[in-house]
Amino acid sequence: MSRQIASLLAIAAVTVTLAPAPASAAPEVDCTQVKCLALTFDDGPGKYADKLLDTLKKANAKATFFLEGQYVKTRPAFAKRMAKEGHELGNHSYKHPNFTDLEPGAIRNEVKKTQDIIYKTTGVTPKLLRPPYGMADIQVSDVAAEFDMPIVLWTAGSRDWATKNADEIKKQTLAVAQRDGIILMHDWVKQTVDVMPSLVKLLQSRGYTLVTVSTLLKSQNLQPGDIYPVPEGWER
Ligand SMILES: [Zn+2]
Repeated sequence: MSRQIASLLAIAAVTVTLAPAPASAAPEVDCTQVKCLALTFDDGPGKYADKLLDTLKKANAKATFFLEGQYVKTRPAFAKRMAKEGHELGNHSYKHPNFTDLEPGAIRNEVKKTQDIIYKTTGVTPKLLRPPYGMADIQVSDVAAEFDMPIVLWTAGSRDWATKNADEIKKQTLAVAQRDGIILMHDWVKQTVDVMPSLVKLLQSRGYTLVTVSTLLKSQNLQPGDIYPVPEGWER
């Protein structure tokens, strides 16, 4: 090897070592190999999202935020921070109507306005739809397909919105957590955000890697308009 090539290689090696790896370049967790769990936070960005993001960052945990367009508009800095710190952003409608009460045009409008404001605010186009209240039918699935999105519900809830009690939220979440589970929570519930440091620590000590929904469901290969988990009696 000539001395010139050797020194060029040395420079290249130094450059590679020193270049900070962007969050998106981090190797993705393979949930077929490790015990994964996806925490999901609906209806935000909520009032307490900032504090929650601090907790997740400290624990090196990723989550998925199913955002309402109206709150992305009023709390753009939180949405930006979620995207920047490697969390997944999903679409949860603009103003939280029950999609099964709406005509397709109105569902489309809710989804599109939310896609647009999330993209405008964060540069990210959400790839998952979670309809308000988890209410979906064939029409909702058709609109999701138009936007190239599967519908993602949850495998279990923390019941945080109902109990609003930190101990109960922790107990319930630990009771329903299971490998490849998707847990429903809310970043507007103060007690959820308050209990999150100890809850995340406990989940991690039980061997869970906290990942985004897309990482969790990678091997499912969901198609636009699919719904996961498939509700009982659902037929297409
Ligand atoms: Zn909701």
